[in-house]
Amino acid sequence: MAEENKGFFKGLLDKIAAVVKETPQEPDKEKPVSGQGAARSGTPAESPLTAEKWTPIENAWSARPQAQVETTLPVETAPASELPAVPAKPAAPTPLVAPVAVPPVAPPLPAPVEEAAKPSFFERLKRGLSKTHESLVGRMDALLLGKKRIDTDTLEELEEILITADLGVKTTVDLIRTLEQRLKRDELQDGAALKKALKEEILIRLMAHSAPLELSGRTPFVILVIGVNGVGKTTTIGKLAAKYAGDGKRVLLAAGDTFRAAAAEQLELWAKRVGADIVRHKEGADPSAVVFDACKAATARGCDVLIIDTAGRMHTKVNLMEEMKKIRRVLTREIPDAPHETLLVLDAATGQNALSQAKLFKEAAFVSGVVLTKLDGSAKGGIVVAVSHEYALPIRFIGVGESVEDLREFDPAQFVEALFQ
Ligand code: GDP
Ligand code: MG
Repeated sequence: MAEENKGFFKGLLDKIAAVVKETPQEPDKEKPVSGQGAARSGTPAESPLTAEKWTPIENAWSARPQAQVETTLPVETAPASELPAVPAKPAAPTPLVAPVAVPPVAPPLPAPVEEAAKPSFFERLKRGLSKTHESLVGRMDALLLGKKRIDTDTLEELEEILITADLGVKTTVDLIRTLEQRLKRDELQDGAALKKALKEEILIRLMAHSAPLELSGRTPFVILVIGVNGVGKTTTIGKLAAKYAGDGKRVLLAAGDTFRAAAAEQLELWAKRVGADIVRHKEGADPSAVVFDACKAATARGCDVLIIDTAGRMHTKVNLMEEMKKIRRVLTREIPDAPHETLLVLDAATGQNALSQAKLFKEAAFVSGVVLTKLDGSAKGGIVVAVSHEYALPIRFIGVGESVEDLREFDPAQFVEALFQ
């Protein structure tokens, strides 16, 4: 049994030795390589993974077709055809290592304190009206403090407060008369009831003529902006342009104030800032010529809104009439039903002056809506009520500060609320 085993194992060992002797030590060196593809895609049995067999990554990368290089490069903002010809440079060596995807760094957290401190839309309005609030509601509160009952004397004192807060004589008399009737009907038992009644009566008068400026389907919708020098026409146009451009509308501005070069420059700055187009001529040019060119440009470019700035130097009614007539004549000839809106800009800080301007312009220039600027910093905000009530004009916008968001669409309920709160 042991002898048999010995014989078997010896035979086996001999066979193994013979096989080992026949097998070459480095078979791959002797086999021809059929190319890179074979080396990279072959199975280990066909092409064992030895260092010599692998094409270095650098060579393989640089040997890839050039087209592939171009398509994998980041695309520049301008197409290649638009870029100036650049002499061919040897390609920069491609890094051996594929760029490591760096995990995006988390952006710094927004400052929650600042965010929270940013006043709301209503708060900003309230702040803008704070001086008028003081002169109207603050003084009214002082008058009513400790008053047991409301009588005609109280209403007389209130009358004086309303006049001082620039609600105008006509509107004040009308308000006091209504309050007297309510007093007779025993509706004004105490100070709180009187305050509530005044708030209601002011709102009723504001709502009677209130209407927002709707850009009806007409394109271009033409807005002619008028008013005396310094009231805030150009600034209001800039803010309006920002609003409409923000709504996705194509806006064209016309620098119709050719009296001072600075006026057109100011408008141009706004145009650049908000991404609007502008038509301007040289200083001293005829405003009607600017309007003519602007109409042509607005129509040709398919603009949605055309806003026309004008000079505020028309001191006499005759001058004003002539200038306005000329501009309107050109406008109507170029765009049949233009202007679709004639916006009169008034500076609320000028109080009764603003009221007489409203009268003058209304008679001369077909005013269809009013913007009251600079309500911030003015204690004469009562003028809003006076202009609307005395001249039956809709207040379209109010300005409560110099930044873009400080031009507000006029909302009577919100205005009265912000004023009385
Ligand atoms: P224009 O002569 O009628 O065109 O008046 P401008 O647009 O040049 O404005 C005159 C000044 O009033 C500028 O300094 C404006 O920044 C400022 N202004 C315009 N609207 C407002 C407003 O609502 N509030 C404040 N505080 N300033 C304003
Ligand atoms: Mg101006």
